[in-house]
Amino acid sequence: MNLSRRSFFQLALLSGLAPRLWGSSPAVAKRRVRVLSRKRRTVDPWIEISKDALRHNTQQVSRLAGGRPILAVVKNNAYGLGLENASSILAKFPEIGGFAAVKASSCLKLREKGISKPVLLMGLTPNEHGIELIRHDIQLSAYTPDTVERLTPLARKAGKPASVHFYLDTGMGRMGMPYRKALPWMKTVASSPLISVEGTFMAFTEDQEFDLEQLERFKDLLGKAQSDRVPTGRIHAASSNGLYHLPEAHFDMVRPGIALFGAYPSRPDEERGKAALIPAFSLKTSVVRVARLEKGDSVSYGRNYIAEKPTWVATLSIGHGDGYARKAVDGAEVLIGDKLYPVIGAVSASHTLVEVGDNKTVDVGNTATLIGPEHPAIHPNNFADTVGVSVYDVLMHMNPDLDRVVI
Ligand SMILES: *Cc1c(COP(=O)(O)O)cnc(C)c1O
Repeated sequence: MNLSRRSFFQLALLSGLAPRLWGSSPAVAKRRVRVLSRKRRTVDPWIEISKDALRHNTQQVSRLAGGRPILAVVKNNAYGLGLENASSILAKFPEIGGFAAVKASSCLKLREKGISKPVLLMGLTPNEHGIELIRHDIQLSAYTPDTVERLTPLARKAGKPASVHFYLDTGMGRMGMPYRKALPWMKTVASSPLISVEGTFMAFTEDQEFDLEQLERFKDLLGKAQSDRVPTGRIHAASSNGLYHLPEAHFDMVRPGIALFGAYPSRPDEERGKAALIPAFSLKTSVVRVARLEKGDSVSYGRNYIAEKPTWVATLSIGHGDGYARKAVDGAEVLIGDKLYPVIGAVSASHTLVEVGDNKTVDVGNTATLIGPEHPAIHPNNFADTVGVSVYDVLMHMNPDLDRVVI
């Protein structure tokens, strides 16, 4: 038998879910019971997505941005949270003015999911998807010298003008039209009858000093465009880092990703002081083996860990194939019940081991939380700093195939 309804409610009480369940209509509560109990039948890792945390982070971002609209970046499967789940939740918040992604397929998925807010494709418009993108009102990034030649036939076939944002390279050297060449090109693109300019944007290198130089280049170009009466649409530049540290770059809207999902972009202690975020996801799995080691016994590949005295160890059904960093062995801890246990040995493709200690305080079937808001030690930024990986990797490497459960 699966998790019974009674035991679910016991679990809900323990996990603090109960007040929300009592507060919702019986039908909604029932649906949640079914979703959670179905997901929890398996011992495989899963990811819980918190609507409340997404709402909280959105409000914090909006406050930092002085109420400007938020263009929510949902690239890479919405930073690992799951494109469709995360975007459908965000789309309901009035602070979210639209979405941006780097792949055409992600933009189209948002429309398939019924999201009607503006969507910006920040990557190259693939010819084979061009007509479909224009038909679905996806705003395209213009940055190639042949923008008019590329987009005009597509717009003609789609039966309506292509909406574009000028993507300007002010020193990032990755995407965008180099700022030195941009002005005459912007004039040409803007005068094309089948192209409608909806925005202009750039990306910062996030080098504290050079960001200011990039900002000057951008403002200079915008000023020239304005005096030449070239339309620029809505202007945007700030990702999460700019949102926190460069208020002069907030322009008409802000364009954060990671902050919406509850992780700090660059200087967590300072950023927490300006606007505290809540990780909007928890990476969880189950304990699948508990064993006692004698002195001298080792665990996992490479015999990285050898017991100095008898101890209990637990095996968790999650590994680097699921997106948990191999480097977790360099000091990460895992929350089981209300205790933290250090990761030992090696993170293999599907398994991770933790040291339990002298007493057998962990059982097969227990839930282990690896990353999430439940404890400061497993906060994504703390995990990233402890083991020496990028916090962006911590989120974006979560395997897209894992179950996502919205709570
Ligand atoms: C990823 C990305 C963002 C969002 O960055 P965060 O640091 O996650 O806020 C904004 N703009 C561009 C062009 C991006 O590629």
